Amino acid sequence: MKIGEINRTIETDVLVVGGSGAGVTAAIGAKRSGAKVLLVSKGKVGYSGNAIMAGGGFSVDGESAYHVCGKENADPSFTKDILFENIVKESYFMSDQNMVEQYVEESPEIVHELLQWGEKAGQSFLFSPPSTWISAGISWTKALKQGLKENPEIEVLEDVMVVELLVKDGQANGAIGIDIYTGEIIQFEAKAVVLGTGGFQPCTLKNTVTDMTGDGIGMAYRAGVKLADMEFLLAFATALYPNEMKGSIYPFVMEFNMRDVKYDVRDAKGEAIDIPEEIIKLSRGKKLSKLVSMYYWGKAIQEGRGTKNDGVYLDYRDNDKDILIQSLENFFERFSAWHKHGYYKGEDMSIVKEKMLKDGLIEVGLGYEYSMGGILVDEKMKTDVLGLYAAGEVTSGVFGANRVRDGLTEMLCQGYRAGLSAAEFAQDTQGLGIDISYRDTVLERITRPFKAEKGISSIHVHQDIEKVCDEGFGMIRNEAGLLKALKELERIREEGLPNIYFKEKSPSYNYEWIDYLQVENLLICAEAAIKAALMRKESRGCHIRSDYPEINHDHYMYRIISKNNNGKMELETRKPIVTKIPLPTGKKENVIEYFLDKDLQYKG
Ligand SMILES: Cc1cc2nc3c(=O)[nH]c(=O)nc-3n(C[C@H](O)[C@H](O)[C@H](O)COP(=O)(O)OP(=O)(O)OC[C@H]3O[C@@H](n4cnc5c(N)ncnc54)[C@H](O)[C@@H]3O)c2cc1C
Repeated sequence: MKIGEINRTIETDVLVVGGSGAGVTAAIGAKRSGAKVLLVSKGKVGYSGNAIMAGGGFSVDGESAYHVCGKENADPSFTKDILFENIVKESYFMSDQNMVEQYVEESPEIVHELLQWGEKAGQSFLFSPPSTWISAGISWTKALKQGLKENPEIEVLEDVMVVELLVKDGQANGAIGIDIYTGEIIQFEAKAVVLGTGGFQPCTLKNTVTDMTGDGIGMAYRAGVKLADMEFLLAFATALYPNEMKGSIYPFVMEFNMRDVKYDVRDAKGEAIDIPEEIIKLSRGKKLSKLVSMYYWGKAIQEGRGTKNDGVYLDYRDNDKDILIQSLENFFERFSAWHKHGYYKGEDMSIVKEKMLKDGLIEVGLGYEYSMGGILVDEKMKTDVLGLYAAGEVTSGVFGANRVRDGLTEMLCQGYRAGLSAAEFAQDTQGLGIDISYRDTVLERITRPFKAEKGISSIHVHQDIEKVCDEGFGMIRNEAGLLKALKELERIREEGLPNIYFKEKSPSYNYEWIDYLQVENLLICAEAAIKAALMRKESRGCHIRSDYPEINHDHYMYRIISKNNNGKMELETRKPIVTKIPLPTGKKENVIEYFLDKDLQYKG
């Protein structure tokens, strides 16, 4: 096999990239509209991306949980209007309200269908009123695979990384992919393309499978699509203890599911990190606790009070031991359908239980969970490039500066809509054929390091980007740190990326090759995120600045857009689209005070 040549060509109507919730529902939506569909995924369908990691739950409004999904104990007083209002306010008014409308209106049907797939695959999702289903990643895998099983006409290609979109005369008409195992280069020719490749996690502490490198975001940006809201990343409690469970989300899942257990948060010296009682009441055991942890733990860590692993301690000593034992038992029982009793995602929790009961201190950190930023789309999931659609976490627009509702619900309703839109487009287009000279420059770029005799490993460059983001783009940011990080990224772009070489020259299962292509994407995401964070000289949602703690609605009530101008990243701004709830004016002292404002009438 000659490196740098197309080894295989596959034609289809709609090419769907991504094998998780957004990809599977897009494929099903497109197929139901009569299109020939090919789904290509870097990982195994249902076992890759972030959905497999999910541990909290997903929801719709209470009316639909009752009427559409048939849950008799749902609370219909939690109406669509309230859900809409919550999302807009939780987003700190950064969401495009027509995208929120799409989420609220279109999610019940597809969530209902997902629940049915799950049931047929032997999964029962626990329901918690007003309108939430508790789930585990593996239940998603089984439900999504059932959805595909019921649609056997959809062709699926796993372990193939899509590395570049093919665009001709401003229209997307395919992509180039690499079979990770054989190293074959595949040319996909399609009339429309949907990206459902998930978000990006730029730092070292991860609570996900490690392939979340923002591939779809990077590819779309190179193809001329605009990105938005890149400065907003959501983090949550992530295990640092025990070492073999580092990155597990058991601390958050326990908080969410053991609401009668109390804890204090302590710094490295054992001093309490003070969180006002009213904030604890508002957030503990709820999804809003993620932002509260980012703010209070992040501040303590930034002040040098963190543990040597940049974490804090959760102190459970104030609990009655019997209550703690019973709550842990209930927790294990609740998840026993998916994880062996006493285990969480294959890991034995007895060591955690023993520590909680013995010295009561568990070390935790903050790991990124979800990127609110991504590809700019409209409510039909259309991007700026004709024939190109995107859905799920790869997009921006619903959750704005802070996601409290559900990434899982988003991937389903956006995926399905993107599939319908792409199929409609495919029906009306002839397809433009491949721009051979553009394709050849892509082939040259993606295989260049095979020719280099010496240089740097892509794995080191990847680690370098993470280190830069750890240091300058953490939970609490400031001008000096961001500027330094940006300079370092520029150094990596100029000196690291062009000098990547592969020790191993075979293209088959060449991880350095795959990571080289991932690194290109992660670098675009990190650069866009840091540039937007520098431009936003205020705090808002998950963008918390120690030098600008105030929220300033008067000056920063806009979304920051990153665009590719002949290889140079430029930023512009635009007002969030308003359909129902007017944008506020004035200022708030910090991101937490925002939620205490009675005028806001936040109903979460
Ligand atoms: C630890 C954790 C817990 C979470 N818990 C919850 C929760 O309880 N509730 C909730 O609502 N949300 C939760 N989320 C968020 C939620 O999981 C995501 O928002 C959701 O999975 C996004 O779905 P997606 O289909 O857009 O992308 P993903 O699920 O991330 O899937 C992306 C897919 O694209 C594929 N892919 C990526 N790049 C390429 C490429 N170059 N070529 C081909 N394929 C590619 C991947 O292999 C994967 O199949 C959690 C996230 C994490 C990390």
